Amino acid sequence: MVSFRCIICNDSSLPTEVIDHIKGDPIGTLTAVRCSSCGHIQLDPPEYSLDFYEENGQVNNVMRMYGTPMNVLVEHSWIEARRRVQRFANYDIQLVRGDRPLRVLDIGGGYGFFAAELMRAVPGIEVVVVEPSTARVALGKTYLAEAGPGTPVPEFLSEIVDEAFATRHARTFDIVTLWHVLEHLIDPVGLLRHAARLVRGDGVVCVEVPNVDDELQALSPSFRERSFMAEHISYFSSHTLETAARRAGAFGHVNVHGYQRYGIFNYFHWIHTNKPQGVNPDLFEGTDRWWLEATWRAARESARTSDALLMVARPPQGGLNP
Ligand SMILES: [Zn+2]
Repeated sequence: MVSFRCIICNDSSLPTEVIDHIKGDPIGTLTAVRCSSCGHIQLDPPEYSLDFYEENGQVNNVMRMYGTPMNVLVEHSWIEARRRVQRFANYDIQLVRGDRPLRVLDIGGGYGFFAAELMRAVPGIEVVVVEPSTARVALGKTYLAEAGPGTPVPEFLSEIVDEAFATRHARTFDIVTLWHVLEHLIDPVGLLRHAARLVRGDGVVCVEVPNVDDELQALSPSFRERSFMAEHISYFSSHTLETAARRAGAFGHVNVHGYQRYGIFNYFHWIHTNKPQGVNPDLFEGTDRWWLEATWRAARESARTSDALLMVARPPQGGLNP
């Protein structure tokens, strides 16, 4: 380790090693380390390759490593998109206003499935997808066309959300979403600051990331090993995710909730066999399969030992200065 700097708090004192082997490590020397000041876990060194995403690298890795066919990945993406739309109601996030259509920005929105589901659920809503990978945007348009007549197609911007973007679109959105984006970035605090500038004073920023405190990490060594991957620079806990938002200095209210993505069959499979469930892991869609699933999800979410975290962050009363 030549020098270290925490991407959340900037501390450079010696971190502690968390794991010495990273899945898909392109250079063979990556480790994951914990900042001794704020406790954030990140790759060291924090590498980021825009080319990797341009070539749709993460999707290709999932297909290669788990054998999951593209049609199953697409089907799962639609399930997750529907569930994200349905979850706004749980956090009191309004999707309609009386006076004008709501405007939503989905940062790193990939194929645009979440945007399409939101447009389907709320007629008249305006949804913009900003996605730096032109390859993913092109693929997304193909999938949306294949999803059948009447599938809404959002506006795509092939851009990066930076200072200039945040200035150009300051305070023009009611909701900004980051679904599994923040963990991929070298400067997550910077992106949260931009996101806060993009929402109106009464707006909201929603951020979902994988949870490093997922209890399955302790129950399946193989699951733990596979959760550290070259694509993910950050490994957030509810505490460090909130710290990142506080460091952005732009939010008045920050709440981090547990969220369970995968179903109980997938969980049991990892514990019982210490192996992935295979080409079609259980991503149960529905309100309940039986009492066990609902009870299990609720317990893990409230303890925040679920597989994901959802942060709901709002600007201070009266909003930020533009
Ligand atoms: Zn730190």
